[in-house]
Amino acid sequence: MTYPNVLLHIDGKWRGSSSGNTIAVLDPATEETIGTVAHADKTDLDEALAAADRGFKQWRAVSSFDRAKIMHKAAGLMRERADTIAVLMVREQGKTLAEAKAETLSAADIIEWFAEEGRRTYGRVIPARAPGVYQLAVREPVGPVAAFTPWNFPINQVVRKLSAALAAGCSIIVKAPEETPASPAELIRAFVDAGVPAGVVNLVYGIPSEISQYLIPHPVIRKISFTGSTNVGKQLAALAGLHMKRVTMELGGHAPAIVFDDADVDAAAKILSAAKYRNAGQVCISPTRFLVQKGVYNNFIEKFVAGAKSIKVGNGLDKDSRMGALANPRRVTAIEEMVQDAAGKGAKIAAGGHRIGNKGYFFEPTVVTDVPTDARAMNEEPFGPLALISPFSTFDEVAGEANRLPFGLASYAFTSSTKTATAIGAAIESGMVSINSFGLALPEVPFGGVKDSGYGSEGGTEAMEGYLNTKFITQTGV
Ligand code: NAD
Repeated sequence: MTYPNVLLHIDGKWRGSSSGNTIAVLDPATEETIGTVAHADKTDLDEALAAADRGFKQWRAVSSFDRAKIMHKAAGLMRERADTIAVLMVREQGKTLAEAKAETLSAADIIEWFAEEGRRTYGRVIPARAPGVYQLAVREPVGPVAAFTPWNFPINQVVRKLSAALAAGCSIIVKAPEETPASPAELIRAFVDAGVPAGVVNLVYGIPSEISQYLIPHPVIRKISFTGSTNVGKQLAALAGLHMKRVTMELGGHAPAIVFDDADVDAAAKILSAAKYRNAGQVCISPTRFLVQKGVYNNFIEKFVAGAKSIKVGNGLDKDSRMGALANPRRVTAIEEMVQDAAGKGAKIAAGGHRIGNKGYFFEPTVVTDVPTDARAMNEEPFGPLALISPFSTFDEVAGEANRLPFGLASYAFTSSTKTATAIGAAIESGMVSINSFGLALPEVPFGGVKDSGYGSEGGTEAMEGYLNTKFITQTGV
């Protein structure tokens, strides 16, 4: 399939922007322009807002039973079209075909789970103080949603917000990533083809800051959901606060991955290596600070480095590639700078550390050991294929290091002791803790952070909460 010129979707129609402006889309593996994406201006946004307003009134009146039917159909279309959609995602984002296909198929699972969860948005009957009085807590959709999503998981980041919003009865305007626009547009197409009424789902692209500044304060919009960096998230949350809008924020992380002396080191190295280099490390829950107890430190490094060196890096479309290109040149520069900074402060480069070739944004799977805590990479989210390994001695020391940063998204620990597992699960300040496995991000489990990593959930029953208001109705017999 040739890469398309991606259009906006407003009020049930696919169309270019009213100004005719477009933005070029690049293939990160070749640096060639492969297509364009329409660039919405204020006229387009006004039309999307009016459509979302009408769409909400219509969609909230559809029963959750019938909403679920349409959502199941969209999930089926995603499965049928997964091979084609995955190729588009590889070309615009750089990840491997296997990863892109898995992301597309898992979108279908997410849609189905939320479709069913929408049917379980139960309220409560609260015992009254007098006969003939009914006290009801009922759940209602919050209203039209503005969702802003990034380029690292072009479909996954949209589908979580879209599915929860639609299941709750909300309409939505998705501002999807301009650098990776075609695969999220195919997700929207699946919903349109499945029969979502016009105006319920709208898709725009453009200048992210201009769109968020316009949509967030707009009276039609009642809820904001953003995934991206902590810096931008704080600005958008502040703007939303000024206008009293509900917010879900899924922001940056800097996950500690703790390996205790009593861990199965082979298993820990294998699981963590797969998690670290998935999507070339451009993952908010990627393990980043590897904190390894001194008794197994050298053994773990040896195993982890061997794993990193065995990863074949190449164009995501090549069947034998295990890691693709980074999604944009910003990530290459950032990782190069962080590696140099760490080395300058005394860290050892145990694997990789360099860009590969001079065409495409390829970077070696990199391992840096004995990293001092004042290295930049130990404080900023690397968001690339960079593992930072440091030794520790005691439980208290490692718990302190795990909680040192303002981030609190994912965390990992490996130990064969139930006592240590329970203690570390309780001690870490993060929204998610995975012990002895990589067990995060399923549709049915909570997904979200604390501290500077944001608030609200993008998975599980908790994700529905973000799209629902509670209304109390008391009724006396007539
Ligand atoms: P960035 O911080 O400018 O952008 C991150 C995302 O936010 C992009 O999708 C962008 O379009 C969007 N964005 C930026 N400014 C916005 C605004 N004012 N209004 C609405 N949306 C806006 O820079 P970047 O180079 O794309 O990414 C840098 C860092 O962002 C990464 O290093 C990583 O830390 C973080 N990030 C996190 C996630 C995540 O899954 N949590 C995803 C992508 C990027």
